[in-house]
Amino acid sequence: MMKLNTKTRSWTIHIDPEWVAWLVFNLPGEKVNKLTATAMAELDETLDELAADERIKAVAIRSEKQDSFIVGADINELLAIASVAEARTKSELGQRIFAKIAALEVPTVAVIHGACMGGGLELALACDYRLVSDHPKTSLAVPEVNLGILPGWGGTQRLPRLLALPVALKMMLAGKPMSGRAARRVGLADGAVTPAFLADQTRRFVDGVLTPAGVRRVRRRRRRAQRDLLSRLGRTPLGRRFILHRARKDVLNRTHGVYPAPLEIVDVVGRTLRRRLEPAHFAAEAEAFSRLAVTAISRNLVGLFLGSQRMKRRVKGGPDRPTIAAGVVGAGIMGGGIAWALARAGLRVRMKDINWPAVNQGTAAAAGMFKSLVDRRKMTKGAMNLAMHRITGTIDWRGFRPSDIVIEAVVENLKIKHQVLTEIETHVPPTTIIATNTSSLSLRALATPLQHPRRFVGLHFFNPVNRMQLVEVIAGKKTSRDTVLAAAELVRRMGKLPIVVGDCPGFLVNRILLPYLIESTWMFEEGVTTDRIDHALERFGMPMGPLRLVDEVGIDTGYKVAKELESAYGERMHVASVLGDVVDAGTLLGKKSGRGFYLYDNGTPRPNDDANALVSAARERDGVAPIEVTDADIVDRAVLIMVNEAARCLDEGVVDDPELLDMAMVMGTGFAPFRGGLLRYADERGIERVHDRLEELADRYGERFRPAGFLQKLAKRGRRFHAAR
Ligand code: NAD
Repeated sequence: MMKLNTKTRSWTIHIDPEWVAWLVFNLPGEKVNKLTATAMAELDETLDELAADERIKAVAIRSEKQDSFIVGADINELLAIASVAEARTKSELGQRIFAKIAALEVPTVAVIHGACMGGGLELALACDYRLVSDHPKTSLAVPEVNLGILPGWGGTQRLPRLLALPVALKMMLAGKPMSGRAARRVGLADGAVTPAFLADQTRRFVDGVLTPAGVRRVRRRRRRAQRDLLSRLGRTPLGRRFILHRARKDVLNRTHGVYPAPLEIVDVVGRTLRRRLEPAHFAAEAEAFSRLAVTAISRNLVGLFLGSQRMKRRVKGGPDRPTIAAGVVGAGIMGGGIAWALARAGLRVRMKDINWPAVNQGTAAAAGMFKSLVDRRKMTKGAMNLAMHRITGTIDWRGFRPSDIVIEAVVENLKIKHQVLTEIETHVPPTTIIATNTSSLSLRALATPLQHPRRFVGLHFFNPVNRMQLVEVIAGKKTSRDTVLAAAELVRRMGKLPIVVGDCPGFLVNRILLPYLIESTWMFEEGVTTDRIDHALERFGMPMGPLRLVDEVGIDTGYKVAKELESAYGERMHVASVLGDVVDAGTLLGKKSGRGFYLYDNGTPRPNDDANALVSAARERDGVAPIEVTDADIVDRAVLIMVNEAARCLDEGVVDDPELLDMAMVMGTGFAPFRGGLLRYADERGIERVHDRLEELADRYGERFRPAGFLQKLAKRGRRFHAAR
């Protein structure tokens, strides 16, 4: 193979004897390929060289990195964009360079193995053809929407022209990755082959598309991918209008209109989706990109993304020998989920409960989670069966001795947990890590009967385990560093994000979230309707209103946690007595019983009159007067009380970094991501203002709002939680 004398460092051209040019991307000094400004400029030059060489018959673009094609543009460069004009220039430049690929007169093929994201996929879309490997590491996505922007290098133009409109919209609006095989199915890829044959198959594919019959074959295959009704509908003007209208409605339902990027995507596609690709269409894309790239929303989302990358790198260094066997004690809602996550990560799992029906329920819950992966084609049936074989159940302690770690997830009761922890200690060697999944008890309180507290750690999974990425790893005063590192490493192996936090009741996330939930029930007791409370906070950007969330968690479960925190933190977490009444009513347990603050009998949940009826009695008993509130009052009472508790957590060192706290609240509670996190929100609103508003709320509603000392200090000194970006 001949190497053409390219001057750039990122791109090289190798020409094979049949005059197929292989354009190879290998960004120097990086593990993955990113389309940095330099790499783009170098691509620009290299494409000119290719275009000038008339001997070349075809161009195949591939990556030199292991298991990775191109992960996208450089996100740090995105954050550095200072003006609308600069953003437009960046978009136009990318469009112009990719247009050079599209304009090459010979067939062009993107050869994709590994991650192909954002700008990487837009580059591939500018090629005539795409071949993918069917390896699990191959995934294709345009995730820009998650960063508050849209694909600005031609993606909004080429994707809906290549794929059925609903598929293209879904890719851009959800930003989710697609496997190589799925890409082949929807027509995004023209072939999917095992990685070892990718080079050979590319050569064969090129030979094919150099003939008119071969080109026809590819076209036919692409058309076949669009034969369903919705795809066909997308080809008529009326059908297009219908699909776009529906997409817009879905976005509004999902986001309450607070995210501009998905709406811009629908809008740009709607305005530009004609047969021919015209410069004005690309200009519309660049315009929309430039508007979005400089919004605070985009900056906040990009900030969170970079934060999560840093978080992944934060606690590194695992145990000397890998964790292979685990025990789970308590096969309830959490135990079943934890067993699933452990088995999925390849561990052998021994799960214990007090009777067989409970064990079976936990095993069935794990099986259900695997099945949902199979249904979504994220796992094969064979892999599921193998994984399920790794979980075995028991009602005694047999089989626990070889465990590298035992996680207890029994009922939230200090006495029972003490007993269970003591038993665990007698059935495993002193080297086995013992973890607790408690939500509200402190490690200090739990550790008292333990002989070897250095190997005792908190592993707080969130519910549902298969959907929640975050796991709090709690380092108690006596927990050894090795134990914390091993626990964090295990969490990472489960594909989740560990955040190490200090020991206190409720740890970080629940300690901050509970005041929000408690405050909402106070407002309910004061006569504000469930609907008003929840809608105000959904419009603020929470994924669901607080009372819906309490229903979701289970009112009895939430009440128990709230009471624990009340006994730990006193007056500022005093629980509204209506919550106790709802629990005492026995039938209103939330979604699981079909009735709570809402009724879940059919379709959309609607407010439950039975819950409302309990309010007046509670009001009388507590001497609470009905109140008039504005939506802003509702939001401030619920959100600023969290800011106040978060300030205390920082002050006490539960976490030392506001960025971690923000990440944890976004990932653990769904706190409005576009606001960049709880503390970022407070910073942007102005600490002094937040402080003054809290004082005002304290005068009106009670001392629980009085600004924490740390917040007072920040306000006095004109400081923020975060360093300015
Ligand atoms: P659950 O009631 O669904 O399950 C608890 C299980 O523990 C039951 O199956 C019970 O039979 C079993 N159990 C009780 N005593 C036992 C013993 N001595 N030995 C073995 N098993 C025993 O409860 P859950 O919701 O799964 O909660 C478990 C733990 O996880 C609690 O500490 C809870 O605070 C915590 N947690 C719960 C959630 C949640 O949303 N449910 C979230 C995070 C953490």
